[in-house]
Amino acid sequence: MGSNMDKPSIDRNKALQRMAELLRSGAVMLDQTCPICGLPLFKLRSGEIICPVHGSIRVVSTESEAISATTEAVLDELEKHVAYKVSELIREVSAGELELSDKYDDILKLLDIIEKIRRIKGLSRPSSSAEGKK
Ligand SMILES: [Zn+2]
Repeated sequence: MGSNMDKPSIDRNKALQRMAELLRSGAVMLDQTCPICGLPLFKLRSGEIICPVHGSIRVVSTESEAISATTEAVLDELEKHVAYKVSELIREVSAGELELSDKYDDILKLLDIIEKIRRIKGLSRPSSSAEGKK
């Protein structure tokens, strides 16, 4: 393909022109920079944050928020399933349908999974210590 294409080329003049337009339209220059091109970001009067070259960068944060929300939902779901499986095993053991010694390893493995899920959720959540513990 072409030469000198290892860096994404940004038309500086175009960017500066765009920045001037933004300022003229009442946008405020922020001290944050675009993660893609490093240009200063602008806050429009609508509250939207945009890069003069790449436009709205809000999409990115919304996307990562959506991903972490999905991850949490999946972990919640998984934890629920595993917890249910544990309670089912315990119920069968106490009902005499199963020997505890037969299922002991299984139960421990499931508890191990729950512990890991909780640890991952704790990592993705800044402060969960405020929640009441049983
Ligand atoms: Zn940019």
